[in-house]
Amino acid sequence: MKKPNPVKTVLSVAACKLTRAALRRTGRGGTAVPGIVAMKVERNILSAVSEGMKVVLVTGTNGKTTTCNMIEHVITACGHDCLLNRSGANLLHGIASDLISSADWRGKARYSYAVLECDEAALKQVVQFLTPAAIVVTNLFSDQVDRYGGVQNTLKEIRTAVQNSPASTLVLNAEDPLSSSLAFDSPARTVYYGLESSVGVQGDVDLADAGVCPKCGTAYEYDYHIYAHLGGFRCPKCGLRRRDPDVAVTAIRGTGADGSTVRMRVRSGAGTVVEEPAVAEAAGAQSVSAEAAGTGAADREREVHIALPAVYNVYNAAAAVAAAIALDLPADRAMEALSSVRSSFGRMETFDLNGVRAQMILVKNPAGCNQAFTYVTSTDEDYSAVLILNNRTGDGVDFSWIESTDYEKLCADPHLKKIYYGGDRAEDLKDRLLRAGADPELLTPAGDYTELVETLAREGRTVYLLPNYTGMMDMRPALCKATGTGDFWE
Ligand SMILES: [Zn+2]
Repeated sequence: MKKPNPVKTVLSVAACKLTRAALRRTGRGGTAVPGIVAMKVERNILSAVSEGMKVVLVTGTNGKTTTCNMIEHVITACGHDCLLNRSGANLLHGIASDLISSADWRGKARYSYAVLECDEAALKQVVQFLTPAAIVVTNLFSDQVDRYGGVQNTLKEIRTAVQNSPASTLVLNAEDPLSSSLAFDSPARTVYYGLESSVGVQGDVDLADAGVCPKCGTAYEYDYHIYAHLGGFRCPKCGLRRRDPDVAVTAIRGTGADGSTVRMRVRSGAGTVVEEPAVAEAAGAQSVSAEAAGTGAADREREVHIALPAVYNVYNAAAAVAAAIALDLPADRAMEALSSVRSSFGRMETFDLNGVRAQMILVKNPAGCNQAFTYVTSTDEDYSAVLILNNRTGDGVDFSWIESTDYEKLCADPHLKKIYYGGDRAEDLKDRLLRAGADPELLTPAGDYTELVETLAREGRTVYLLPNYTGMMDMRPALCKATGTGDFWE
């Protein structure tokens, strides 16, 4: 990396901040353009503004935004200031805009930490310009095939980035054969997180993305499954297998609309230990024993409350604790912080529509959508579902993923009382729902979102909103207007 020129650095930062301010004044969120302008002035500006800052890059198919949100919350709870790219602009220039704008006018970092969501394909570009302290890969599933050329290609892109970042600690999902394979040929320090077989979760198994060992091509055998291709995999021929996680969820005690209570174990020697047990601010976080929490000699296991529901958020929470360990932050404090984490933009975000609870879950690929259905159908109250399907550039033009998504599971749930369907592909969605066995009586076109929100509030039944990305962007203003919630860049 060439050293940035000090004069150009100042000019580049000024260009970024002024462009951003001008775009906002004209009412645009303005995300990539300020970064493009700044990098034209000084190509290596990112190395200047990230100097002395510990940067965490979070990539993967599902859970990026929530995991970032949790890691930022954990870092803040440990007493540090932290930048988060809340705008969701996760390509190189969007990341550049957020990072450069956060620096002072001389180009010096004002935060000690930054947690940056990074698109899978953009990761290798970003690491050309800055050296992250940690790279978190949540999981890899088929997603937007038309854009990435398949999950194996995505893995290849991430592998290139990882190989060019030997100084960065890897944080990997132990049960995902794809993302965990990133460490198999890397000298980087790795922190694994995962769910043990003892949690007893068994979702839908789908090995289409990752059925065979990348080293010898033999079909994996599984000791247990979590969902899709996540589980206790091992290759019977060459021995490649799931590694024991440093942060392991050993049991899920309870799950509900307000979160999950789990038991989490941190391997001894993984990360630093809080000398004095921090004051538990919420009921959920309690040490198993003072000895286990304080000495660091034994594995530390404790009950942890995660203030976001669904099994996939248990994974995201374990990833956040693993990231804290990668950053040498105290694991105990990280676990405690999970009890007060809040949902982010469109991910389990809850809206109160005149006393009616409406929960928004962004869905954009079969693995994520099936997990959302697992959560929705696990509750025991009646509800309406709002399904929105667009196929614009931000979503992937190819929407054939709905064919391999388990709508049958949703449609078979007796608590489902009404399905509103909408978006550019509303008719395709309706057709898919009917083939999945939906009762035609339950199907209603979503229509105008403002009117829909009014209707939902009147009906008085819990609502699950399941849009894909641009669908969420279309629908959210109506929800914000009805509830007085702010826009995402505020
Ligand atoms: Zn093998």
